[in-house]
Amino acid sequence: RLIAPEPRGEREEQFDRAIRPKTLAEYVGQPTVRDQMSIFLQAARGRGEPLDHTLIFGPPGLGKTTLASIIANEMGVSLKTTSGPILEKAGDIAALMTNLEPNDVLFIDEIHRLSPFVEEVLYPAMEDYQLDIMIGEGPAARSIKLDLPPFTLVGATTRAGLLTSPLRDRFGIVQRLEFYQVADLAHIVERSAHILSINIDQAGAKEIARRARGTPRIANRLLRRVRDYAEVRADGVISAEVADRALDMLSVDHCGFDHQDRRLLLAMIEKFDGGPVGVDSLAAAISEERGTIEDVLEPYLIQQGYMLRTPRGRMVTRNAYLHFGLPPKDGPEP
Ligand code: ADP
Repeated sequence: RLIAPEPRGEREEQFDRAIRPKTLAEYVGQPTVRDQMSIFLQAARGRGEPLDHTLIFGPPGLGKTTLASIIANEMGVSLKTTSGPILEKAGDIAALMTNLEPNDVLFIDEIHRLSPFVEEVLYPAMEDYQLDIMIGEGPAARSIKLDLPPFTLVGATTRAGLLTSPLRDRFGIVQRLEFYQVADLAHIVERSAHILSINIDQAGAKEIARRARGTPRIANRLLRRVRDYAEVRADGVISAEVADRALDMLSVDHCGFDHQDRRLLLAMIEKFDGGPVGVDSLAAAISEERGTIEDVLEPYLIQQGYMLRTPRGRMVTRNAYLHFGLPPKDGPEP
């Protein structure tokens, strides 16, 4: 899968480290987020305080982890990274927080998947830099309080609505990442190609950008695969034509939809008469997890106007029928 959220193996991680922006100036696109963060960071630095706790939300691959590491870098502090599902017990988060240096950044990915016990420990830690934990069990149990150094919690989540409101309320800064414009993605592709000494012309970068689902991670992944194609089936240079042929071979269509996107849209059209259909029925129909449909597949299809989320369920739009060359449900346009 080209849109799999996690890096797939060591090589991809190496590649990722090399091209991941390290400063706000290198962070392409997202102008609102960049403008705001540059002010908040400068102000915090000026006061010698940690940055306020920051919540970043947006679909996978849009740059949440990157922004967290930029925050640490711009503040000149260390970044400690963890994720919601790994932190099972209160002690897990306590161990991490007691190891922080003043003003450090603690990054919790998938923060909506924290256990309630861990969340309870986070509240006083975020508010008063106080750790309040129970040790022992039964009658011998007692609670201990520890002072923590001031720190910044950066939380990332795919959807803001998944967070409990007491947790959401404790973030002073909330940033939502949007899908990227083609021009920004083209810039990202050119930048990565430059770092990795990949031969690409402007039109080639634009073709990859157009078909990257508005997502930097996908743009970078496509760049690597198109490079393979250019080296084996062409003269090594990624032009628009080479990119087009390579992306066709990868089953990434002209809208940037991959196999799973098309299966989702086609299932709605063919099995559910265009909808409305509940997300669980859809998940069963295409043997995909509900969470993947909600977090990965549908945000882009909705943003591009191919499907809708209505109170009665998901529906496809006319664009979806037209995409497959099918007559729209309500008949062709007069
Ligand atoms: P997320 O945490 O939202 O899933 P990441 O921060 O891991 O996404 O970003 C995925 C990849 O996309 C990274 O390898 C990074 O290099 C690239 N990337 C993300 N945002 C940007 C950006 N604004 N400018 C340049 N590259 C970016």
